[in-house]
Amino acid sequence: MKLAKRVSNVKPSATLEITARAAAMRAEGIDVIGFGAGEPDFDTPEHIKKAAIEALKKGYTKYTPVSGITSLKDAIIAKLQRDNRLTYNREEIIVSCGAKHVLYNIAQAMFEEGMEVIIPAPYWVSYPEMVTLAGAAPVSVDTTEEEGFLLSADKFEKAITRRTRALILNYPSNPTGATYDLDTLEDIAKVAVKHNIYIISDEVYEKILYTDFHHISIASLDEKIKELTIVVNGFSKAYSMTGWRLGYAAGNKELISAMSNIQSQSTSNPTSFAQYGGIDALNGSQDEIPKMRDEFKMRRDYIVRRLNMMKGVSCFNPAGAFYVFPKISSYYGKSFKGHQIKNSLDMTEYFLREGRVAVVPGVTFGADDYLRLSYAISMKNIEEGLNRIEESLDKLSNG
Ligand SMILES: *Cc1c(COP(=O)(O)O)cnc(C)c1O
Repeated sequence: MKLAKRVSNVKPSATLEITARAAAMRAEGIDVIGFGAGEPDFDTPEHIKKAAIEALKKGYTKYTPVSGITSLKDAIIAKLQRDNRLTYNREEIIVSCGAKHVLYNIAQAMFEEGMEVIIPAPYWVSYPEMVTLAGAAPVSVDTTEEEGFLLSADKFEKAITRRTRALILNYPSNPTGATYDLDTLEDIAKVAVKHNIYIISDEVYEKILYTDFHHISIASLDEKIKELTIVVNGFSKAYSMTGWRLGYAAGNKELISAMSNIQSQSTSNPTSFAQYGGIDALNGSQDEIPKMRDEFKMRRDYIVRRLNMMKGVSCFNPAGAFYVFPKISSYYGKSFKGHQIKNSLDMTEYFLREGRVAVVPGVTFGADDYLRLSYAISMKNIEEGLNRIEESLDKLSNG
């Protein structure tokens, strides 16, 4: 069938693909350890589920206002004030079907042919695809492990051209776990203000942070940068609500209104009772968050230590999120039974077939020397999976 040109450039999400392949192997009876997951392995806190069930019982099962119910917007406004020292009014807030949907709407409302969007690499897989779908050009700017996988203001400024419309920042980062401190954010903000570049600030991992400093939203630095920033956040990662499909953005009211128009002609409102659960997530007890974070931190400490002990592997210590991003390229060029491993895709394939472990190849995040492992799985599986990785690496021979 002849498809639109626009989709010929779009790749399916590699992370979802790996997860599906591991699931298919499991269905065949092969026990695969999956490090692919992009979602917390905890259950949604009980009080949030109750709030949604209550909403269902009360008959809140109909269309809602397109951009979200007022009481949820108010809960979001209160959250942004409380956690991020950001002040917004209702016209500056939109609720969509997940942070991913929010980002898609932003791309559709802001970008078009002839524009460039700067994306620091390693990046979340969907950013370049969303920019491409909107007709604009993603401009990937490499950051290195030595730089802590952070974009410097200098590199940012050098990447700016007459066509640059926006910078997409994600901190803590998927896939590296790196996050920005105040000084670096201030330097980046200065450059953005000087050149009038918008910042799309994806902060979905803000609550999963192991540093002794708190998450800082770039929008909170001053009024000028706030005007240029669209803050993106959601419920999936902080509250383990990936299946609920609920996320939000805060920013310029013309942009929010355009996003709402797009939404009104595509998905309409996010699911009614999910929104009621969302209110309770933000306004209710936050006690589950530190529990999940402490568990993630314990796993991070273990997995980073183990990976760094493996010969030829080095692993950056992530400040947040639930991924590690080890460098394994010292094994490129080695072989197993005559098959040479040349890149992160080959390594992923090898681990899956021979080691029965699923990881995500770094190339999909714009960094082919690396792999991404999620530690949103049990300690027992992490241990066993790392054993398998270590054994698989040991089996590789020179040439
Ligand atoms: C998971 C994730 C999202 C999307 O989250 P949803 O709210 O479930 O759509 C957005 N950005 C990054 C970096 C993510 O890892």
